[in-house]
Amino acid sequence: MIPVTTFSGKKVALFGLGGSGLATAQALVAGGALVTAWDDNPDSVAKAAASGIGTGDLHQANWAEFSAFVLSPGVPLTHPKPHWTVDLAHAAGVEIIGDVELFVRERRVHAPDCPFIAITGTNGKSTTTALIAHILKSSGRDTQLGGNIGTAVMTLDPPAPNRFYVVECSSYQIDLAPTINPSAGILLNLTPDHLDRHGSMEHYAAIKERLIAGSDTAIVGVDDVYTEAIADRATLAGHRVIRIARHRALGEGLYADGTRVMRAEGGLATVVADLEGIATLRGNHNAQNAAAAIAACLSVGVSESEILAGLSSFPGLKHRMQPVGRKDNVVFVNDSKATNADAAAPALSSYERIYWIAGGLPKEGGIASLSPFFPKIAKAYLIGEAAPAFAATLGETVPFEISGTLERAVAHAATDAASDEAAQSAVMLSPACASFDQYKNFEVRGDAFVGHVAAIDGVMMLI
Ligand code: ADP
Repeated sequence: MIPVTTFSGKKVALFGLGGSGLATAQALVAGGALVTAWDDNPDSVAKAAASGIGTGDLHQANWAEFSAFVLSPGVPLTHPKPHWTVDLAHAAGVEIIGDVELFVRERRVHAPDCPFIAITGTNGKSTTTALIAHILKSSGRDTQLGGNIGTAVMTLDPPAPNRFYVVECSSYQIDLAPTINPSAGILLNLTPDHLDRHGSMEHYAAIKERLIAGSDTAIVGVDDVYTEAIADRATLAGHRVIRIARHRALGEGLYADGTRVMRAEGGLATVVADLEGIATLRGNHNAQNAAAAIAACLSVGVSESEILAGLSSFPGLKHRMQPVGRKDNVVFVNDSKATNADAAAPALSSYERIYWIAGGLPKEGGIASLSPFFPKIAKAYLIGEAAPAFAATLGETVPFEISGTLERAVAHAATDAASDEAAQSAVMLSPACASFDQYKNFEVRGDAFVGHVAAIDGVMMLI
């Protein structure tokens, strides 16, 4: 835990007592702050009170007494409209911050030079965060991995010299971290997402820009117009900027060239890494993630050989294009995290001959946008509520069956793929749908897929 010493003896209001909110409240109490915590859910309040945290209805509180208001990133700060606590904090002139801000203040006081890599972007955050942490860890460094990826920042070990922090930041967390100042800040890409919570693309982009604007080294993907403009502004402002690209070569920076990651300096390009054969980093999108990870690791003093060793041993993240089993020429891939068509596209683009398991609870737009990949699909196995709609989209062009359940889909796909003469084919769950019609969440769906794969006769599991 990181005891929050910067509010010792001061009164702090806190709203949102989910996992990270509770951890933050505990860290504030451990550091000597006088916390008044609250949540709309009485069970969460009761749980916090039972663990020794001061609780109280913030409707009735005297806001003038608070030195700060700590808000959970899941609670609306601006859009669609500010939460009532935000209005009360504004009216009393109390600053509103989140757990990442508490972390950066602790770091500033106790170990301002300890390496801190922060990662944001619309897609690829968790993969890049996990990859960087893996490279650092496998090179023997004291590595703390947390943030939006699932481990609350406040549960990490306290800042100390030579302790490396790798923190995934959602835009909500950046919005609540006004003085965020990473050693290396990564902005991977920007596409419209969560606009209900940000109002407009411009506002969303402006929040993400703050992460790299405060960084010693700004690492910016320049494949979209928003991030390209952000990189240009940071350069003009005199920041150290490293550009990365997945769709084109750069004169300066890191970019993907097939499976290779190139580094260009003064127009001269050399290969820094070749991802060929690294099953967990397949696909051009992963070349972007790897380029960002390489740039970040280099900027905090990791050697090229340490980086290469870490890249080649990256175990990957569960449920994201994860190779889970193999039988002869067939690889079984769990991409359960692909809960919409956009998210399924990278997986479909990364394999040449695919037995595709898709379906679940349909999302708006269906799978029509995936039609460029249809020629690669040997057959589709449709499950869940989306099956009839997906069947209609596949129509005459792609062979399909309505399997109904995941278990049947895996069994049928495995049998069909086994008689495929292609040098390699993939049986892939990349559902382009939410899971809630048949499973509690995408993790449970992915685990079920793995279970069905493991039941195939003669399969060699890779996990
Ligand atoms: P996030 O944490 O930002 O949601 P993840 O690393 O969990 O991202 O990846 C989620 C999905 O997003 C992956 O399964 C893949 O389909 C897609 N993805 C990963 N990296 C990228 C990238 N750099 N650009 C575009 N899409 C990506």
